[in-house]
Amino acid sequence: MEKQSKITRNSNGTLNTPDQPEIPFIEGDGTGPDIWKAAKMVMDAAVSAAYGDRRKIAWREIYAGEKAFEKTGEWLPEATLDAVREYVVAIKGPLTTPVGKGIRSLNVSIRQKLDLYACVRPVRYIEAVPSPMKHPEKINMVVFRENTEDVYAGIEWRAGSGEAAKLIKFLKETMNVVVPDDAGIGLKPISKANTKRLVARAVVHAVQNGCSSVTLMHKGNIMKFTEGAFSEWGYEAARELFPDKTISEAEVYEKHGGVTPEGKIVIKDRIADMLFQQVLLRPEEYSVIATPNLNGDYLSDALAAQVGGLGMAPGANIGDECAVFEATHGTAPKYAGMDKVNPGSLILSGAMMMDYLGWNEAAEIVRDSLAAAVKAGKVTYDLARQIAGSTEVKCSEFGREIVNQMKSVRG
Ligand code: NAP
Repeated sequence: MEKQSKITRNSNGTLNTPDQPEIPFIEGDGTGPDIWKAAKMVMDAAVSAAYGDRRKIAWREIYAGEKAFEKTGEWLPEATLDAVREYVVAIKGPLTTPVGKGIRSLNVSIRQKLDLYACVRPVRYIEAVPSPMKHPEKINMVVFRENTEDVYAGIEWRAGSGEAAKLIKFLKETMNVVVPDDAGIGLKPISKANTKRLVARAVVHAVQNGCSSVTLMHKGNIMKFTEGAFSEWGYEAARELFPDKTISEAEVYEKHGGVTPEGKIVIKDRIADMLFQQVLLRPEEYSVIATPNLNGDYLSDALAAQVGGLGMAPGANIGDECAVFEATHGTAPKYAGMDKVNPGSLILSGAMMMDYLGWNEAAEIVRDSLAAAVKAGKVTYDLARQIAGSTEVKCSEFGREIVNQMKSVRG
């Protein structure tokens, strides 16, 4: 077996993944250690089932959150960010947001400091998971949410502050815009370059995965120069990047009688509120969705709830330099150390990570075995309370059940 070594990135953005890549992990706070143990066990077993001794992940622990604070006095040490940059791919459990410690959110800090501009959330139904939808199996989407700007840029001033007063005065005197004196003010920057790189990533995903469409979700009927511009720049990015592989919805109707030409990905846009209706009523018409930050935050959780898997929704934050795969739920502190919660989100994020490495066989084994474990009815408390006739198992036992299912899913 080859010696463990680092993943590297080619100039065109593709990865070189050695057979024994060193991958940093952040265990996470609260229930993080429990779900990390189960997730690591499942990922290691899937890699072994797919590739035998040829491939193995060499895990390297790095620190953020409470564990980092205990060890270094810092919540997010620079060494941790450097390690993610150096090793290109990392995975993390949930982190506590330190209240009143001058940090808005560790997760937001990690995304912004590493310029992880695309928050990628696949939403797919797992059979037997309780869902509020009549046909959850029709939902198969990937949301690409812009991660660095919009109202999340953190540019805001409290009502009554000197800064807010200054801005209100400036707006009145130089722009003839009247804002109430007692207003808090936030800014919503949406830029051309950041929009285009996000949409480019969504289109590349659609091309590589044979998806039928990319939908630009926006509220441009009201916020014309931010959300509206997001849509315009999104079309522009698709035209520039894949002129031969993409076609706008308008062109499909104007030039092709409403029938998409063979092999083309349709680029369409939808107003945000309308899209929320459509993903409930006609989910099969949507495949990849690219959206500014705030819309994406709402939509990702709403879609995850539609497939019943809020506690099992995987996610990743991806930039040009590096990527961090993560559990999308919080630390669930009341269950910390009880070996109780569902490790599914981190496990499925691990499967996403394997796809990202090009280890698709291992990724499929993880997804199929997790689905088989749920179908077998041995599930953690959150699912057990919703699935009649199921048996509640601990977090670690659910992990072991997934590993046990690997033999059957491999045939
Ligand atoms: P939370 O930790 O997500 O927990 C809320 C509830 O969701 C839990 O009480 C539990 O519901 C359910 N839940 C969460 N994870 C689960 C799992 N793995 N399995 C089963 N059920 C699960 O949200 P929170 O209480 O608002 O936040 C707690 C801390 O996490 C805060 O410090 C917050 O800032 C942080 N946070 C971190 C991240 C992140 O790192 N990505 C994300 C969100 C929040 P029941 O009580 O009904 O069983």
